[in-house]
Amino acid sequence: MLDPRTTAETMRPDESEAGGLLDPADWGGLRDLGHRMVDDMLEWLRTVRERPLYEPVPESVRRSLSGPVPREPQAASAVYEDFRRDVLPYPHGNVHPRFWGWVVGTGTPLGMLADMLAAGINSNSGFGDHCAVHVERQVVAWLAEALGIDAGVSGLLVSGCSVANLTGLAIARNALTEGDVRRDGLAGQAPLVVYGSTETHSSNLRGLELLGIGRNGFRGIRVDADHRIDVEALRAAIRADREAGRRPLAVVGNAGTVNIGAFDDLGALADVCSDEGLWLHVDGAFGALAALSGRLRPLTAALERADSVAFDLHKWLHVPYDAGAILVRRAEAHRKAFELSGAYLSHLESGVATGPENFMQRGVQMSRGFRALKVWMTIKEHGIDKLGRAVEANVDQAAYLADRVEREPELELAAPVPLNIVNFRFVPQGAPRAAEELDRLNRRVLEALHASGVAAPSHTVLDGRFVLRTAISNHRSRFDDFDLLVDEVLRHGRSLAQAGSR
Ligand SMILES: *Cc1c(COP(=O)(O)O)cnc(C)c1O
Repeated sequence: MLDPRTTAETMRPDESEAGGLLDPADWGGLRDLGHRMVDDMLEWLRTVRERPLYEPVPESVRRSLSGPVPREPQAASAVYEDFRRDVLPYPHGNVHPRFWGWVVGTGTPLGMLADMLAAGINSNSGFGDHCAVHVERQVVAWLAEALGIDAGVSGLLVSGCSVANLTGLAIARNALTEGDVRRDGLAGQAPLVVYGSTETHSSNLRGLELLGIGRNGFRGIRVDADHRIDVEALRAAIRADREAGRRPLAVVGNAGTVNIGAFDDLGALADVCSDEGLWLHVDGAFGALAALSGRLRPLTAALERADSVAFDLHKWLHVPYDAGAILVRRAEAHRKAFELSGAYLSHLESGVATGPENFMQRGVQMSRGFRALKVWMTIKEHGIDKLGRAVEANVDQAAYLADRVEREPELELAAPVPLNIVNFRFVPQGAPRAAEELDRLNRRVLEALHASGVAAPSHTVLDGRFVLRTAISNHRSRFDDFDLLVDEVLRHGRSLAQAGSR
């Protein structure tokens, strides 16, 4: 072992290496490069509509992105050239005005710059009396206010709704089981059951797996024709589980299901939970944001009665990836679920080791980046009302697309459109086709659309049938983009149907 005294004396670095080893030797040069990066990226965003939304990653790039770890330094400008050549041209496509796959957000130019500022200040918002913590507190309070949830609610920012769902369900588990689950785990507990409709997002199931409740601890309750949970069936399932000696724990309410954007009757679910002593967790990944629009707000009625609400900020609030949030009405349960002890973590009376909120003790992350800054700047730049108008505009576009689909004899609307998601299929005129053939045809249509780089809806399976799923959470889309989508689906559909029948 090295003798530390010898180390200090003999291993003291050269003057040239002392301090700032990783800072630029030429600050002026890096400043120029930084200006160029900002110029390039803003121009890239400004002109996004002019490019195809997607280009496959070429073989040469795949090769260059699988080389060995660099051992030697490279000029920052050369690294940036690598980015321009190998990374920038091959994005996912979601910044493009005709990307409507899965549910993704578009981001904003100021959001991008905010991330640069956050990385520059590089604060750990786990704890402490510094501005990253204060900004996050303010953002959490703003989000609660904007969604109409009690002031004073507890909450924090997380990477996205999957982690927000896990967090909400973890609090429910720890708060409502007997004994001390944090100490003892689930040993000795009656089997726990969490309820939600069959349309519940799979991230909740993965959360239950991680919490030791398991997928079998989830009861998928049937939905009605509008994809809303059948509340009577839910009550019956709870009764049956109690009779069988299991322990009902929580209900996951959907505010915007992933397939079609349906809202469960959250008021009815809140009644069930209060009658039965269960926790109501709402997965409102994108749908909760409907509350930002006065016109759409009734869809989220009773959201404020949930014990916890999970939602994304990188989807319909257009904050750059990644950002989601969890709000918890039972602040005490939230605190108890994640608090930590440790001499090295305890607070002092003043200075860096104090702070208004201990975010590292509100979730699974200890060190946490300054995720709140891009949310704070996005909300300030646009104001919550305009962000609500962007949500509303997408809902109007969904209604417009649904209407266009219904007017086209070769297109078929596959589900109701309660919010921003339009599911439809291409069904050629003429002799009826086998169901499998139609599935195949629609799959080919989607692949052709993606390959063309013109538009990117995604897909799902509804009633056993493959459908094109257009989830509109894009502030760059215009009505004529949906005309183009319809035209292109018809064009590809007709030519593929003909090729197939030849
Ligand atoms: C996207 C989504 C999730 C998961 O959110 P991530 O941000 O991807 O982790 C959960 N629930 C619903 C309804 C979603 O749409």
